[in-house]
Amino acid sequence: AKPIVAIVGRPNVGKSTFFNRLLGERAAIVQDEPGTTRDRLYGEVSWRGRTFTIVDTGGLETSVDSSSDEPDPIRRMVREQAEQAIREADLIVFMIDVKTGPTPSDYEIADLLRRTNKPTILAVNKADSPQREYEAVEFYSLGMGDPIPVSAYHGMGITPLLDRVVELL
Ligand code: GDP
Ligand code: MG
Repeated sequence: AKPIVAIVGRPNVGKSTFFNRLLGERAAIVQDEPGTTRDRLYGEVSWRGRTFTIVDTGGLETSVDSSSDEPDPIRRMVREQAEQAIREADLIVFMIDVKTGPTPSDYEIADLLRRTNKPTILAVNKADSPQREYEAVEFYSLGMGDPIPVSAYHGMGITPLLDRVVELL
């Protein structure tokens, strides 16, 4: 079977934008996972001769804006999605938002990820400018290794991120 790469992170960090950016016009939604909420999208990505399945977690969250504060139900939802992704994935792309800085949910997800032995890549999204790219270093404090700045919206930083994915798969 193809390896599974899950994009995990709190609502609004840009997971779906990144997912769509990777799939582009060849976007092939492979399946809706039966029996669960219809909040997981699957697509196939080929990069440098490797093919993997990419999973966008958390379609439920489109109606939720947790950028300012994070009430308990949202934190619980984020944690449950992260746990499920960790179970099914071979590699996790942990996505955060450079504009908000690390939030309590980010630290919570980082704790979950540290307790697995699955490879994790820290993607710092919304690094739309050199200043924002520079600010990505702030996320070293999550203890998840080298943050990779990306801008899913503008399509920047995608190559280094995918290179890292296939390196670790
Ligand atoms: P998700 O909830 O994590 O799936 O996030 P979405 O992909 O739905 O994006 C949430 C919001 O962030 C949308 O308004 C996106 O347009 C915006 N967004 C996503 N990626 C970027 C980015 O690289 N830069 C900026 N400035 N905004 C982004
Ligand atoms: Mg989404």
